[in-house]
Amino acid sequence: MKITVLTICNNDIDLKKHNGLFELAENLASEVYSICVFSSDKVFNTEINLPKNTVIFQCDFLGDMKKLGGAIAENNETDIMLITKNTLGNEFAGFFGTKTGASVMLNCNGISVNGGEVYITKKVYSENLMGEFQCNGKLVATMNSLKSDMNYTCTINHVTHVDTGFDGLEGITIVKAEENALEQCEILVAIGRGVKKNTLEKYQQLAEKLGGEIGGTRPVTYDGIIDLSRMIGNSGKAVSAKVAIVFGASGALPFVAGIENCGTILSINKDENAMIFKNSNYGIVGDVQEYVDMLLEKIQG
Ligand SMILES: Cc1cc2nc3c(=O)[nH]c(=O)nc-3n(C[C@H](O)[C@H](O)[C@H](O)COP(=O)(O)OP(=O)(O)OC[C@H]3O[C@@H](n4cnc5c(N)ncnc54)[C@H](O)[C@@H]3O)c2cc1C
Repeated sequence: MKITVLTICNNDIDLKKHNGLFELAENLASEVYSICVFSSDKVFNTEINLPKNTVIFQCDFLGDMKKLGGAIAENNETDIMLITKNTLGNEFAGFFGTKTGASVMLNCNGISVNGGEVYITKKVYSENLMGEFQCNGKLVATMNSLKSDMNYTCTINHVTHVDTGFDGLEGITIVKAEENALEQCEILVAIGRGVKKNTLEKYQQLAEKLGGEIGGTRPVTYDGIIDLSRMIGNSGKAVSAKVAIVFGASGALPFVAGIENCGTILSINKDENAMIFKNSNYGIVGDVQEYVDMLLEKIQG
């Protein structure tokens, strides 16, 4: 079994808070890989202790999440990935799980392996009970801080700095939203998984021609179709545009939370039972491709 430990830290104190993760992984598996991401370069002035052969990425983590996730997924087949629990760690776990088809468990307290089976412990029922979960297949888990007194002998001089050198977003220009652009826009063009990657330009054009902004559901941002800064919903932005046009989104509650304050919502979905229609003023049952073309034609004509 191969375990990858991914620590995401702003400084060496952060790292020390979680160094028990390395020990845990080493006790569980013979093959342990360790990846450390620093989102600040200040840490490089400090001597820190890491397991041997740790790979260090130093990057603006949120900005580079897609690149980094792609690079790790491509180069590192792993059975279990243990990630430090913090906001970025939890966000990354969801993203990486989607990318690799692994199950995702957040905020876990422990992990054990018994007869080849993997068990996760995690507080449940408003943290009143400790649950034990048997995991099948690949697993990505974020772990609450696990401190250890173990002293790793490797210092910053012995680790490798890696340029991810990976662009899984070929052919797509990722445009970050200006600060508050989505929150303040009057017209929103929102896309969901029903929109194909290679047709993105049409939706961008539509947003531009209407003087609005483009945003999307979480899967669309995690798939790298639009920038993370354009995610709408509980985990992203809340938009209160006068008009929102929603293409190919099912209307899951975490998404709807981000558009419910919009004035008029028009949704297009090929499934007449899609939840999004319950939260829309106008709904069209049809193919997004057909309607984006029609709208563009009307505006241009
Ligand atoms: C803790 C947590 C937080 C979350 N936060 C967010 C959040 O902030 N924002 C968010 O968006 N999600 C969030 N999610 C995920 C959310 O639950 C949904 O999974 C997500 O919103 C679904 O995205 P989607 O509608 O693009 O995809 P899907 O649910 O897959 O829907 C795609 C839709 O496209 C339609 N479709 C497909 N092809 C076409 C076509 N050619 N023409 C027309 N329609 C078509 C389908 O009928 C379907 O309804 C969160 C989940 C969790 C657990």
